[in-house]
Amino acid sequence: MIKIIYTKKEMQIFSLSYAHKKIGLVPTMGNLHDGHLSLLAKSLKENDISIISIFVNPTQFGPNEDYDKYPRTLASDLTKIESLYFKAFEDKELVIFTPSEINEIYPKNFSTTISIGPLKDILCGKFRPTHFDGVTTIVFKLFHLIKPTDAYFGQKDYQQCVIIKKMISDLELDIKMHILPIVRNSMGLALSSRNQYLKESEVETSLTLYRTLNQIKELIIQKKDFKDFIVRELNDSRYDYLEVRDANTLDINISNSKSIVILGVFRIGNTRLLDNLLVNLND
Ligand code: AMP
Repeated sequence: MIKIIYTKKEMQIFSLSYAHKKIGLVPTMGNLHDGHLSLLAKSLKENDISIISIFVNPTQFGPNEDYDKYPRTLASDLTKIESLYFKAFEDKELVIFTPSEINEIYPKNFSTTISIGPLKDILCGKFRPTHFDGVTTIVFKLFHLIKPTDAYFGQKDYQQCVIIKKMISDLELDIKMHILPIVRNSMGLALSSRNQYLKESEVETSLTLYRTLNQIKELIIQKKDFKDFIVRELNDSRYDYLEVRDANTLDINISNSKSIVILGVFRIGNTRLLDNLLVNLND
C-alpha cells in the first residue's frame, strides 16, 4: 500500500497505529534523484513501514540562500517513488509525508531551536551559520512526529550525518541511524538537487571537486604530504573549504585517527557543490 499524508494530525495517528512495528524514515526536501531513492530502497528492504518525508525546510536556509528557488517537483517525485515501489516492494507499506503547508511543521510563532554545539560551526557551518540549527530542528521534529525505529541519511551530507548522530546520542533517542554511500553520475559527480542549477558549459568544471578529493586521498594513501597540496588548491577562490578530518568526530587532529574524511565545497556561480571521500587508514 502507498499512502500520501499531508497533515501532522494524520501522520501522528498513522504512526501511533504502528507503534510496535519497524518504521524507517527517509527525510528529504524532494526533487528526488537516485541518491534519495537509494535511501528509500534500503528502508523499504529493512522495515515493515517506510516513510519518506518531502518538505523544503525554511529554517535551514540562510536569508540570501535559495529557499524560494529550491526545486519543488512533487508530481515527478511521486512518479519516481511509485516506480521504485512497484518494481520490488509491493508487499511493504509506504507513506509519503508531504506537509501541505509550513504551519503543519512549524506552528505560528514557533521559536525553539535544537542546536548541537561546536560541530555546527565548522566546515559548512562557517559559511552557513544557521544551517545546522535548522537541520537538527526539523529532523528532531520529524523524529518526534513519526517515531521511527530507523532513519536513513546519505554520506553526501557528511557533516549533517555526524551532527544528527550526535543529536541522537546526546538526547538518547531510540533510533538507529543508517548512513548510505554517495550516489554519483557516470562522471563521478555526486547527485544533488542543486546540480540542475548548473549550465551545460559548467558540467566539466563541476568535476573539479571530486577529482581534487581523489588526489588528496591518493596522497594520503601513499603517505605523502597532502597539506601543501590543499594549500595550493585553496588558492582557487571557488573553494569554500577543503579539509581532512577525523571521520567519527570531525576533529581536525587526525594523528590517532583510524578513519578520516576529506571534505570540500566548490562553488560554481551560486551553486555550492558538496562532496567528500572516506579513507580507512587500516586498509
Ligand atoms: P536533501 O533532499 O538534499 O535534504 O537530501 C535528503 C537525503 O538524501 C539526505 O540524507 C542526503 O544526504 C541524501 N542524499 C542527497 N544526495 C545524495 C546522493 N548523491 N547519494 C546518497 N544520498 C544522497
